[in-house]
Amino acid sequence: MAHYTFDVLVIGSGAAGLSCALQLAANTKIALITKRSLSAGSTFYAQGGVAAVMAEEDSLQSHIEDTIKAGAGLCDHQAIEFTVKNARHCIQWLVDQGVEFTQSQDPDSKIPFHLTREGGHSHRRILHTADATGRAVSNILTARVVEHPNIQLFEDHLAIDLIKHGERCCGAYIYNRGTGEIDTFSTRCVILATGGASKVYLYTSNPEVSSGDGIAIAWRAGCRVANMEFNQFHPTCLYHREAPSFLLTEAIRGEGGKLRLPDGSTFMEHFDSRAELASRDIVARAIDYEMKRLGIPCVYLDISHQPADFIQEHFPTLYAKCLSLGLDMTREGIPVVPAAHYTCGGVVTNLQGETDIKNLYAIGEVAYTGLHGANRMASNSLLECFVFATSCAQNINKTLMNIPAPTTLPAWDASLVTDSDEEVVVSHNWSELRHFMWDYVGIVRTNKRLARAKHRIELLKREIQEYYSSFRLTPDLIELRNLSVVADLIIRCALARKESRGLHYNLDYPEQSSLHAHPTILQP
Ligand SMILES: Cc1cc2nc3c(=O)[nH]c(=O)nc-3n(C[C@H](O)[C@H](O)[C@H](O)COP(=O)(O)OP(=O)(O)OC[C@H]3O[C@@H](n4cnc5c(N)ncnc54)[C@H](O)[C@@H]3O)c2cc1C
Repeated sequence: MAHYTFDVLVIGSGAAGLSCALQLAANTKIALITKRSLSAGSTFYAQGGVAAVMAEEDSLQSHIEDTIKAGAGLCDHQAIEFTVKNARHCIQWLVDQGVEFTQSQDPDSKIPFHLTREGGHSHRRILHTADATGRAVSNILTARVVEHPNIQLFEDHLAIDLIKHGERCCGAYIYNRGTGEIDTFSTRCVILATGGASKVYLYTSNPEVSSGDGIAIAWRAGCRVANMEFNQFHPTCLYHREAPSFLLTEAIRGEGGKLRLPDGSTFMEHFDSRAELASRDIVARAIDYEMKRLGIPCVYLDISHQPADFIQEHFPTLYAKCLSLGLDMTREGIPVVPAAHYTCGGVVTNLQGETDIKNLYAIGEVAYTGLHGANRMASNSLLECFVFATSCAQNINKTLMNIPAPTTLPAWDASLVTDSDEEVVVSHNWSELRHFMWDYVGIVRTNKRLARAKHRIELLKREIQEYYSSFRLTPDLIELRNLSVVADLIIRCALARKESRGLHYNLDYPEQSSLHAHPTILQP
């Protein structure tokens, strides 16, 4: 079991972790640990882009107002203003790193970038790199991190828990997949940049790593967690066992794609006058309703009325992906389900990413800054990663040398555990948890469903804790333990909110209530 000493430990290599590490590295020794490869997080898969006010006809005030509106009365106005005002600076920093945003082709344009417009935004303000912005950002930042002499990378390393000295954080225990051992990292401060928790649901657009580890780790260490009831669901994710997280862009519905039941009939017109063009949450709810009503595993997204060459030209990636799975979208509907997409809640932080524990920071999707309120506006999440990574790095750069130097910490004690003889317990509980979260705490909730989920999570948490204390750790067990904590936090927040607002929809309280116009904050 190794013992490492660094100034700063950054946990996670998405937009938040990479950009924070790079802005800290000039005079600081950094360990950047990540549980799979460097590019394994949600960042790599982001398609649309990053929101920032760039155009002359746009304004900071307009971006602020759009974000407030999307957040359904629960946004923190200070966090919004801070984010929106710092957006341009972050875009410049990304450009300086080498990110190549798509350029404007308009000779009269006053700015070099092409801007798109997305749901909720009153103006064109989304900077993008074609339809693979996350990949472009991830590739560039990863290349910078790899070449930096002050950043040591630890891939296939999985954070288990923080180490505290009194009330301050001074390191973490990290599972090393290569050796199967648990290493100790002793540092002046720790930054959680571990992304969201969408893997708590059966269907998700997120990659495997999004198991809410940072939220569970911070909660166990004594941090407050907020607004976990607000999970954003994307309406159309491919339903196929060989492609569990593949997102089908909303542009398909924009180009006339119809949602159909297995008998070929359409249904969106019964839910909203805009039919397929209704907002994400309405479409997701309608699909969920039909799936539950008919007991069907998916519905179908059908754009086959368009000529084949139109489809191949407009959706080349998707067309190729579907063909590789034996689905020809020029001739038939594609099986789709809604899928958990974004975690609006998380570890409570201030504008510098500081948590309730001294020398512990949280940035990116793991954090609750108050920016998103009850619903995230498209392309504000990557922006949040960059803005808070910057403010967090600036704060640490100023204060680091006043924080006590790392000391030797006790090694992980594995003397009381043995090898598991029943691995099936882990796989069974993993699947049970994601199923009941989907069925009872998903897109449409009721008091009865939430009560059922509460009962089940209590049993599961006890069983998982017993297993955790008795057997040697595996990555699956570490993630399952975290998923059970996150599921419990979501259920508790959902039970506390006795109204429907933003992404939280409860049939027993279908209306928004002024009595609940505040975030749900859980104390550990
Ligand atoms: C398909 C898709 C499309 C999207 N499109 C957009 C978009 O166009 N615009 C936009 O603004 N947002 C978009 N989002 C959301 C956005 O991508 C994410 O919110 C953002 O990338 C999160 O960045 P992050 O750095 O916080 O986390 P991530 O990028 O998820 O990175 C988390 C990192 O932490 C690591 N990690 C997790 N747990 C541990 C642990 N225990 N130990 C060690 N390492 C750990 C992971 O391996 C990973 O490296 C999209 C999301 C998805 C899934």
